[in-house]
Amino acid sequence: MRALVKYAPGEGHVEIRDMPVRQPEDDELLIKVKYCGICGTDLHIYADEFPNTPPIIMGHEYCGTVEKVGRAVAGEWTVGERVVGELHTGACGVCHLCRAGKPHICDQKLALGSKYHGAFAEYLTIPAWLAHHLPEGIPWEVAGVTEPFAITTHCLVERGALGAEETVLITGSATMGLMSTIWVSRLGIPNLVVAGTDMDEALRFPLARELGATHVVNVQKEDLAGVVMEVSEGRGADAWIECSGSPAAIRSGLRLVKKTGKAVLIGLVGPETIPIPWNDLLYKELDLVGCFSSPPSSWQKALAVEREEAPKLRKLVTRIIPLDNWEEGFAMMRRGEAIKILVDMEA
Ligand SMILES: [Zn+2]
Ligand SMILES: [Zn+2]
Repeated sequence: MRALVKYAPGEGHVEIRDMPVRQPEDDELLIKVKYCGICGTDLHIYADEFPNTPPIIMGHEYCGTVEKVGRAVAGEWTVGERVVGELHTGACGVCHLCRAGKPHICDQKLALGSKYHGAFAEYLTIPAWLAHHLPEGIPWEVAGVTEPFAITTHCLVERGALGAEETVLITGSATMGLMSTIWVSRLGIPNLVVAGTDMDEALRFPLARELGATHVVNVQKEDLAGVVMEVSEGRGADAWIECSGSPAAIRSGLRLVKKTGKAVLIGLVGPETIPIPWNDLLYKELDLVGCFSSPPSSWQKALAVEREEAPKLRKLVTRIIPLDNWEEGFAMMRRGEAIKILVDMEA
């Protein structure tokens, strides 16, 4: 089968190769992949800035149809069913985290598409426990963005327990910021300020408005503090959702979240450490909520609302391309010209 492979360490070393289809074990499914989304992580794997073990098939944001069912899971799955699935391959299933429903942060996890053969391929073989039945009425294009939507579901709903806030600040308006915008809007929070930079003007800001942001601020041109303080009547944001990974945005978020406010931390920063005014965390009595990836519970919650949110989620898919055009897709993502690009593995 054709697959996009990171075939050697170092920058680049990615190409379409012919790879074998692995037949499913008793507890596994063979999936015929429909779409696999290009993620920021894929760009980092390309650049060798994210841990990976070549030669490895890339891709972890997938949907498709069940092609073969392992004997032990035959009661749960049938051939031809539509499926989406998680990326927590390698999770041990027995450690305290796995038993607590958190395989996404299991020490043994070998994430799909970086350390375990992924979904930029015609076929994908995964343990069945990672797969979810795709509810009826959810278009493929929306199914294809379930993974990032599950992450924000985990961060905002499960970890952040948002809902009662009046003013939320989101720093960063790429996929995580926009998916968070959908959730904040869905939760009925009246004021949402989304902050970004010049790079977000053309594509992301108009989308943020369409998805429910009440205020959109380009921090390179406008006074973010002024907007947040005006909207919150001088208190600061009740909750701050950090999706940018930018040290400057992190400093301003810490300044603009109110005393006793909540900081939901999603965006990874580049350097290992960044300076922050530590004592402010104490003086302000902030609740810090660190979030990473998407446990199974968050997939169920995301899938339960996906049909209702389908019109908004669909807007995040900027382009659908065939695998042959993967380089152009990666380049568009790098230049910020697309929110999500789905690779059509059947094209
Ligand atoms: Zn991803
Ligand atoms: Zn484990």
